[in-house]
Amino acid sequence: MSRQPVADAFSVEPRSGVAAALLPWFGRSARDLPWRKDRTGYRVWVSEVMLQRTRVATVIPYYERFLTAFPSIRDLATADIDQVLALWSGLGYYRRARSLHEGARDVVARFGGELPRSVELLRTIKGIGPYTAGAIASMAFGIRTPLVDGNVLRVLVRLHAIREDARQTRVQRRLWSLAEALVPADLPGLFNEALMELGATVCLPRDPLCLLCPLAFICEGNRLGIAASLPILAPPRPLLVIHAAALIAKQADSVLLGRRRGDVLFGGLWEPPLVEASSPEEASRCLASFAASPIPVGKVQHILSHRKMHVTVFQGNLTNSPRYPEMYEEVRWVKEDNLHLYGISTLARKLLAQGVG
Ligand code: SF4
Repeated sequence: MSRQPVADAFSVEPRSGVAAALLPWFGRSARDLPWRKDRTGYRVWVSEVMLQRTRVATVIPYYERFLTAFPSIRDLATADIDQVLALWSGLGYYRRARSLHEGARDVVARFGGELPRSVELLRTIKGIGPYTAGAIASMAFGIRTPLVDGNVLRVLVRLHAIREDARQTRVQRRLWSLAEALVPADLPGLFNEALMELGATVCLPRDPLCLLCPLAFICEGNRLGIAASLPILAPPRPLLVIHAAALIAKQADSVLLGRRRGDVLFGGLWEPPLVEASSPEEASRCLASFAASPIPVGKVQHILSHRKMHVTVFQGNLTNSPRYPEMYEEVRWVKEDNLHLYGISTLARKLLAQGVG
């Protein structure tokens, strides 16, 4: 059977060809996910923010707990940031939680608690970028508008066999235009979701399942046999290596925690106080500003998207006049039984596991 070159396929039926193949496939193959029921702008917003850089299986319990605690934008807007961060604990990329909270307050202040039905206005809300605006507008409000996330990017790059660095601005712009050309006027949200689902379940990063793909008949990457090698992505910057020393200080049934300032990494989250430095020796030396006779009890390694942290964990008491690093806005004793009420990062959990319980 001869294949139709992708350019011809798109020029003949720019939208309906892809939509006609993709939507029935999605109808048969869509995963049953909690955010696909009872769609509202708020529910799409929360789910899409949680799903950024995070696996679906990880997100599901967080999403359900979050929606139970904050069933509406107003509930989220009036919540304390500590409560929001506590529910986000362990999900990572905590800036997302802070942005969502700020965004909810913005929506209440400027739009009376209702998300506006306009891509342009959605993009003026704190924390809502082009992708999230496209998701809310198309999936919740049926507006014909595209979106490009990591999954859609991969599908589009392969469909068009784009052999350039997909992180380049020029290529990104092209991908948004290609996505826009594909979105049908009918069911734009379902189409966008189907394209993301295809990327997540069929057009997989390492081994695309082209034999199962409803778009194989127009996929140039598949035709050329180069799909698995795409997209081309310039290597990310090497990880910054950070050394740190953390203190687990205990008093009766409480442990000392510091809350990071809002404008630093892990902003608003609580952790055993630590100092960062360029070497383990320097970090241990700096710990003396608040730790008396600290004893090393373990080491923790933690990798984030842009940094690798090596932390030596100490147990000890506080000095008479402790001076904590500037990144902490508050330090307090917290009962170990109450730790679940605090926003605590995965790194902090690892640190606490060395000396608490
Ligand atoms: S045919 Fe293969 S490479 Fe092309 S979109 Fe489908 S799964 Fe991806």
